[in-house]
Amino acid sequence: MVRLYRLKYCTISISLILLSAMSLAQTSSGHVHAPAAKDFAATLTFLSSDWMEGREAGTRGSYMAADYIAGMMQLNGLAPYGDYDTLKSGQTGTTLFQQTYFQDFEMKLYYIEMMGTFTLILGKPGSVVVKNIIGIIPGKDSTKSLIVGAHYDHLGIIDGLIYNGADDNASGVSGMLALAKAWVETGEKPPCNIIFSAWNGEEKGRLGSLYFVRHTHANPAQILAYINMDMISRSAPEDTNGRQLSIGTMPASEGLRQIAIAGNLRLPHPFELDLWDVTGHTGSDYASFTAKNIPVMTFFSGYQVDYHKPEDDADKVDLKKMEDILKIVNDCIREVTESLSDK
Ligand SMILES: [Zn+2]
Repeated sequence: MVRLYRLKYCTISISLILLSAMSLAQTSSGHVHAPAAKDFAATLTFLSSDWMEGREAGTRGSYMAADYIAGMMQLNGLAPYGDYDTLKSGQTGTTLFQQTYFQDFEMKLYYIEMMGTFTLILGKPGSVVVKNIIGIIPGKDSTKSLIVGAHYDHLGIIDGLIYNGADDNASGVSGMLALAKAWVETGEKPPCNIIFSAWNGEEKGRLGSLYFVRHTHANPAQILAYINMDMISRSAPEDTNGRQLSIGTMPASEGLRQIAIAGNLRLPHPFELDLWDVTGHTGSDYASFTAKNIPVMTFFSGYQVDYHKPEDDADKVDLKKMEDILKIVNDCIREVTESLSDK
């Protein structure tokens, strides 16, 4: 258990008149309620049902999952932040474009492995178009962005068994969608853009997040931070109480680490935190962002016994643990975006 307590000092305003529009914005985003289990449990269960066929990138299940995630983003009021579709060409020669929730990229069906002097080409020839799904809440300062993301692909069907990937990573995606809904529902513009993303192809080498950082509309220099959620609903066998949480950051981002520590201490029963340095690690989509020197925070609830097994099912997730993790993530979103207003 981390036993570092930080006191938060508040200044008392002499008069309400002194409250500026900026501080009102801070107050409103301070009231974003973190999602409860009822806000993400059904999505988690649906994404990890047999219907989704294990969501392997490039397979039918992953396209179904992509359509569902995009539909949820639209229904929950996020603006699209993916590729532009050609809407129509007028007789005047004018072409209209409409932004979509999908960012398409090509995924090769083969990979190359070097074995000494031999080059092995494994897999099938050719490639297939696969999708990231991206939505945005435009901020007051539209030049700066915070990104909240999770990969939605998993391992698909192997030897006739469906790898449902409930913890890995229907948990992260359902958490991301629930946070997006909560932030839209404030009806307020946050201080900066908040981009919500579901990445494809993480299990095949972080393909989706790598493509995003190379092709995003957002200027990488203007991305304040990337918050990653990958496996946030189970616990390692030794964590018998389900109260351990791993949070990775870069050494240069001490501020983000402190924000996470403070968020944890606001919980009635704080987690025992494993705070680690992501430098040199490539275990999830955060690494695509660290490669571009974008500050990251990555949340992980522990290596559970069903990791990358067909038994990673929705009936085993710890909804209460996930609820508490999302409270910390929600605090981090608030603190990072409000850091702009403080300047
Ligand atoms: Zn994962």
